[in-house]
Amino acid sequence: MSDTIFGKITRGEIPSEFLYEDEHCVVIQDIHPQAPTHVLIIPRKPIPRLVDAQQSDSELLGHLLLVAGKVANDLGVGEGFRLVINNGADGGQTVFHLHLHILAGRSMAEGELAGGLV
Ligand code: AMP
Repeated sequence: MSDTIFGKITRGEIPSEFLYEDEHCVVIQDIHPQAPTHVLIIPRKPIPRLVDAQQSDSELLGHLLLVAGKVANDLGVGEGFRLVINNGADGGQTVFHLHLHILAGRSMAEGELAGGLV
């Protein structure tokens, strides 16, 4: 599987500030924020797309959701945020290493598309 920038970030090969990290994932600021709060939850395991995840990844996927909630709370946006996973080029995915976007701090009102990501 080809490596991506997120592989290099999670392995520490590209210096990045981790807002949170544990043995399974890291959280970084998005370099091109689409909202006042825009962070990425990136598993250390390089699953390319959500559809490539296997049954054996179920615990990891659940963990990523729990980390999303914790990080949102820690960032002070636990009362209102949007969680986005883009899957595949047609889904707006540009980095083929699974990641979750937390977007918050501006209106995510009905009718708006996902944080400008689509
Ligand atoms: P996606 O389009 O869902 O694949 O999202 C990829 C996201 O990664 C985009 O929001 C980019 O702004 C962000 N991104 C790309 N390179 C970096 C980087 N080196 N550090 C932080 N965020 C990045």
